[in-house]
Amino acid sequence: MNNIRNFVIFSHIDHGKSTLADRFLEITKTIPSDKMRSRFLDMMDLEREKGITIKMQPVRMSWTIDGKQYMLNLIDTPGHVDFNYEVSRSLAAVEGGILLVDATKGIQAQTLANLDLAQKQNLVIISAANKIDLAHAQVEETKQDISNLLNISQDEVFAISGKTGVNVESLLKAAVLKIPAPKGDENKPLRALVFDLKYDSYKGVIAYVRLFDGKIKASDKIYLVQAKTHAQVKEVGYFSPEFKVCDELKAGEIGYIATGVKETASVRVGETITITTTEEIKAFSGYKEPKPMVFASIYPENPNDFEVLSDAFKKLKLNDASFIFEKERKEFLGRGFRCGFLGSLHAEIICERLKREFSLDLIISTPSVVYKIIDKKNNEKFIYSAGDWPDRSTINETQEPWVRLEVITPVNYLGAVSELLKGSKAIQIENKYLSNERLILIYEIPLRKIIIGFFDKLKGISQGFASMNYEVLGYRPADLIKLDILIAGEKESVFSRVVEQSDAYSEGKKIVSKLKEILPAQLFSVPIQAVISGKIIARETIKARRRDVTAPLYGGDVTRKRKLLERQKKGKKKLKARGQVSIPSKVFLEMFKQG
Ligand code: GDP
Ligand code: MG
Repeated sequence: MNNIRNFVIFSHIDHGKSTLADRFLEITKTIPSDKMRSRFLDMMDLEREKGITIKMQPVRMSWTIDGKQYMLNLIDTPGHVDFNYEVSRSLAAVEGGILLVDATKGIQAQTLANLDLAQKQNLVIISAANKIDLAHAQVEETKQDISNLLNISQDEVFAISGKTGVNVESLLKAAVLKIPAPKGDENKPLRALVFDLKYDSYKGVIAYVRLFDGKIKASDKIYLVQAKTHAQVKEVGYFSPEFKVCDELKAGEIGYIATGVKETASVRVGETITITTTEEIKAFSGYKEPKPMVFASIYPENPNDFEVLSDAFKKLKLNDASFIFEKERKEFLGRGFRCGFLGSLHAEIICERLKREFSLDLIISTPSVVYKIIDKKNNEKFIYSAGDWPDRSTINETQEPWVRLEVITPVNYLGAVSELLKGSKAIQIENKYLSNERLILIYEIPLRKIIIGFFDKLKGISQGFASMNYEVLGYRPADLIKLDILIAGEKESVFSRVVEQSDAYSEGKKIVSKLKEILPAQLFSVPIQAVISGKIIARETIKARRRDVTAPLYGGDVTRKRKLLERQKKGKKKLKARGQVSIPSKVFLEMFKQG
């Protein structure tokens, strides 16, 4: 156990974690050079396409320093705030962390947030200014800022390039020498912490574990403490980074246990795996479950796919513990789910994974925060989707969640950033200097204002230099009403939205013109209206698409031509009477993205 080192790489998004991990994989010859590809540990297609890490990814490496061979268990983590639960879970499985700061960007919001998590876990932290190969890297300033942040001398901060490999080997060496070996006793009964899960149709639930005490091998009998489930181990192994079978896992190691358990509902991350024993086993306290604040409804496009979707949710939930789902039923849409996410990127990723990994076509409502309504009888009710907003006459007060928003920006973008915040009606609490050139701006703002599009705007006005983080403060009174959308006179409740009274008119206009743009033309003209309590506040019309039914007729058969046109007119009437506007799911998705 003395030769084991368990550590994570953590940082703000895009500061170079996955690229640095590539160099570690090369130095330790974990991946043969002909198999190497950039950001090797971003193993999901979705991660590779989007260029971001979504899932934590462990990998075991073997490396010899001064004649002593070490087993290194590294976990690469995501940096985006929506995937923070991945970071906090991986931190509980390790003794140390490498903190990276991009020297062209400096300390950013998730640098601070993730550092805070790591310090709470008492991890030994090694730090580095990264991307020093870039001409505009501010190496000295970044080193200074990091040393102030960690209260260490500047000499202790490495200056590296994960891309070219400069100083990477000495960083890894320092990590091995400074991060302590794990503690534990392999002769005690098994005590393993489950920090991630995956479902396999042959091997059942696969638990990603850190062993704190004991040993485990295939065919051992195990007990899942919280799930109160006994099982017989199918296989144990480690991450190469693919699953690699081995004979045994021992205290201090990170690896996986294929449990054979097929019932997914009871198994959770934070679970303690042990063996049947008379000794008392101290279960891990588990993880504090994250609280989803953004909700959207998800329905299968084909109502017959409901059971498939239900099964998909259960399996995906194993691999992403931070979203929740609950059955619901809606007019026109049938059976589906109300889902909670940590943010809109998280929602987008889940929908994308459902499509790819389970081949499902989905209808997704516009995501929204959870509102609170106090009715005339003083009862509180939480509203998860605009469609459930009660009649105006029954409402006494409406409330919405507020957050404490922390924006970090270089001084030269202060004007633009302040403007954006003011435009979003944020309340300024404090501005303070983080260093000579960067500021932390603290604001309070309704969560509704920042869940969709805000982050992109912030990036846009600051050329990618500003970053943000937030935490929920609680509910505050708000002046909210429900905006409904009628398409060809029919209310389409998936497009309903809760808006601030003073924004209702402009929001209504925005939604109808957006719909006009993306809704395909029908055989008859289609009015699109925005309505508040029965009053129309905005309207657009999509002109009829005239299919030329006479096209195959050439020459002068006028009577036939007229007859056909006559019939087409009747057909249109029929369709219109039934209000049949076909809305492809692309339209729902597009509305979802644009907010
Ligand atoms: P992560 O989000 O922290 O995992 O960051 P990635 O490893 O995915 O890197 C984000 C971007 O920065 C990618 O385009 C990398 O090619 C680039 N990058 C990472 N490290 C370096 C570096 O040391 N130098 C330069 N020039 N680019 C880098
Ligand atoms: Mg990454």
